[in-house]
Amino acid sequence: MRISMVSEHASPLATLGGVDAGGQNVHVAALSTALARRGHEVTVYTRRDDATLDERVPLAPGVEVVHVEAGPATHVPKDELLPYMGELANGILEHWRRSRSTPHIVHSHFWMSGLAALDAARRFEAATGRTIPVVHTFHALGIVKRRHQGADDTSPAEREWLEPRVGREADGIIATCSDEAFELKALGVASARISVVPCGVDLDHFTPDGPAEERGLRRRIMTVGRLVPRKGVDLAIRALAELAAEGHADVELVVVGGASGPDAERDPERERLRALAAELGVDDRVLLRGQVSQADMPAVLRSADAVVCTPWYEPFGIVPLEAMACGVPVVAAAVGGLIDSVVDGVTGVHVPPRDPGAIAAVLRELLWDEERVRALGHAGRERMVSRYSWDRVAADTGRAYRAVLDRSRREAALRTAEGALL
Ligand code: UDP
Repeated sequence: MRISMVSEHASPLATLGGVDAGGQNVHVAALSTALARRGHEVTVYTRRDDATLDERVPLAPGVEVVHVEAGPATHVPKDELLPYMGELANGILEHWRRSRSTPHIVHSHFWMSGLAALDAARRFEAATGRTIPVVHTFHALGIVKRRHQGADDTSPAEREWLEPRVGREADGIIATCSDEAFELKALGVASARISVVPCGVDLDHFTPDGPAEERGLRRRIMTVGRLVPRKGVDLAIRALAELAAEGHADVELVVVGGASGPDAERDPERERLRALAAELGVDDRVLLRGQVSQADMPAVLRSADAVVCTPWYEPFGIVPLEAMACGVPVVAAAVGGLIDSVVDGVTGVHVPPRDPGAIAAVLRELLWDEERVRALGHAGRERMVSRYSWDRVAADTGRAYRAVLDRSRREAALRTAEGALL
């Protein structure tokens, strides 16, 4: 199958440098590569954000990245990209017209890519009579972001009505977790058009065996992620302080993520967390590590007795997968993708959102029970191997594409039959 991926702000090539890559970059790169391994031909369209980039860059055998001129050829924050989506659609359409073989299906990532993909596919159909179905993955939903972040949400106002429109107009939706599927149904997306396929994890890189970063005698809990309030690192600090107040002074919290170098010192969230740890009297046990590369991440994760993932909300959450793939139990807020990925009592323990007392209660039971830590970790690895390999994710995604293509052909046949009757 020939597949066009559209990822307006998150280039899969950014994963190669590692530094600024978020979940979507990793997802598009790994999914495209795994689809190509299964024999598909993948072209990824992304916005040119650097004037020195070639128009076409090979990513892996069977995967090519095409940089489309859409707005200035420099980094533009994603919340300012909406005005350039028409240009992105023009570029995609132009590339389809120039290449001898047009795609069988388009898969867009994030709401603005959905707009560009639908626009390009509609215009292509109007010009040639050929339908190219659009499958869409949101990666995050504005309505959920607004619910939790309120006035701090910097998304453009248009997101509120354009995003649900993408959901209703796309030929198929791939949600990454069941919680997202519920949200989409509430937005008016027909459930028959929604498939749930999770993100995957690199099981050869994130393994339980291999070096672990050295540590002292204390038990070690860890958080990993961007240093933004919604990731809930402060909740882990409060839980640590509760344990300390009960006499468990032998636990440390390693906080991975945030800026590194001179920028790190100016990061207000880092300052807030440092001040909170000092106020609660645990600053000697909270280690703010800053950015860790993907290359070093497995060794760092393996050094933890438990990884604490307690965001306010989480569209999917790749960090819990990485921890489980390394055989480390996850203390997970029961929100978003974590509800599906972390099995309560089997690969980790669920806690209610924004509840440091509940996190402390779980850690109190878990950290000194080495057998349980091992059993949860072992089950986590098994779950990742059986359900979350990129090959499995690509196979499930391919099935979702085929279902959309079949439906689209049936609908086209029905339209032709109706036309003949008129
Ligand atoms: N990450 C990293 N270094 C860091 C912090 C995070 O490589 O210092 C990676 C982490 O391993 C994961 C990704 O960033 O692969 C975060 O993905 P997730 O879905 O958990 O959160 P997002 O940032 O996309 O909201």
